[in-house]
Formats: sequence, structure tokens, C-alpha cells
Amino acid sequence: MSQDLHENASLGAKLGHVGKFLTDAESLCRRIAGPDLGSLPLYLLEQSKMPVGLGTTYHYAFYFPHADLIYQDYIADWRGRGPCVVINDIGIAEDFESIDHEYVVTGIVLHELGHVLDRPMLFDEQAYEDSERRQFDALVITDASKRPSRSDVPMYFGHGANFIRIVIHLAYRASLAGFEISPAGIAATHRLGLSPIASYADALGDEPHRYLDLELRALVSHEPPDEFVQRWTADMNRYQSRFPDTKE
Ligand SMILES: [Zn+2]
Repeated sequence: MSQDLHENASLGAKLGHVGKFLTDAESLCRRIAGPDLGSLPLYLLEQSKMPVGLGTTYHYAFYFPHADLIYQDYIADWRGRGPCVVINDIGIAEDFESIDHEYVVTGIVLHELGHVLDRPMLFDEQAYEDSERRQFDALVITDASKRPSRSDVPMYFGHGANFIRIVIHLAYRASLAGFEISPAGIAATHRLGLSPIASYADALGDEPHRYLDLELRALVSHEPPDEFVQRWTADMNRYQSRFPDTKE
């Protein structure tokens, strides 16, 4: 075990409860997005259990379509390919009181699940042909996740209308499944230069209830209410006038 891994391991012992919240969060994901996930594993990795340098500093979590392959060495119960999210439990423990960890961790997992479901494929099915390429990608990903958000793309980059819509459905389903959480507990869109997500939830109306049995990835093929589209268009126009130099 390297010195770095040692340091993380002793910290990890203090963060043991986060592992339990992640186990609970995974089963919540399965209850509310079961048809989307099917029999695939959903890997939620604790950064404290990986060597220092492999995780992120500026984010509480990150997901990449082939993260399962990149971090396979740190997946204790490998059950084949599947979506994989790294949770920065160290950063969470630093920034939040223990009493809030369950809510915060679950909200972050649901946020990342939103990213997973905002794609046609849950993970990149292409395997690596050689380990050098895998190591190179690991370095690139690790480097990117250590930087603050890019300044050449809009603040909301990666958090478009379909992502917001999925998040609102996830919050509704999670609350029904017994984990009370608001959409803002999953994605604080006002911090991304957009309207508060509550206004998007109002615009969606009873859609989350009407589509309770629908696969969340299939939402994209159903038109959202006009009000929701108008809210997004208004936000895009407002953003463009505030930050005319950013391009998507
Ligand atoms: Zn995000």
C-alpha cells in the first residue's frame, strides 16, 4: 500500500458512514430508475478508498461513460460493465456536518444518476484494447477533474433542459420512495446561471406523476409542456445577454 493510499485509508475509516449512505443511495437509484438500469451494476466509488491523485478536488463527484474500466482496480465487487461514479467523500466530509451527510450524499448520487440517464447509453460500451490507452485516459480524466469549471463554456454546460427534466422526475420518484428531496437538493440550477429549478418543476406540472412508469431515458422522446420549453428558452436568452462571449 502506498503512502498516499495509507493517508486516504485512515481518512476513509472516519468516513465509514458515507459507504452505508452510498449503499442506500444505490438501492434508491434502483427503485426509482429500475427499468433504466436493468440488471447492470451501478458503481458508486468512494474517493477516500483510492490513491490520492486519482480523485477530484473541485467537484463532489464525477461520472464518465467509461469510468468503470478506468477505476476497475478499485471496484471490490466487479460485476461486469456498468455506469460508474466517483464520490468525493473527503470533500463532502470537509464541507458538510455529519448530520447532513446522508442528504448531501444521496443528492449528489441522484445528480450523477441524472447525468447517466441524460445519455442514450448508460456507459461507453467500447472496451480498451490496450492498458496504455486506459492509463492515458485515466490521467486525462484525473487532470480534468482537478480543475475548476471551464471558463470557455457556459456555467450550465452539461446541465441542459433534458438533464433538468430528469432531475425533477428523480426528485419526485425519490420522495415517493421515502427519501424526501427537492429538485434543488439534486441540482441547484440558479448556481449555473439559470432560473431556480423550482420554477422548472412548476413548469413541468404533473408530468413526473403522469410518467411515473416511463424509463427516464425515454423522456426525451416525449415533448415537455410548452411552459417548460419557454422557461429554458428564456434562460438561454438571458444567459446569452449576460455572458455574450460564452459559446456552447
Ligand atoms: Zn453535474
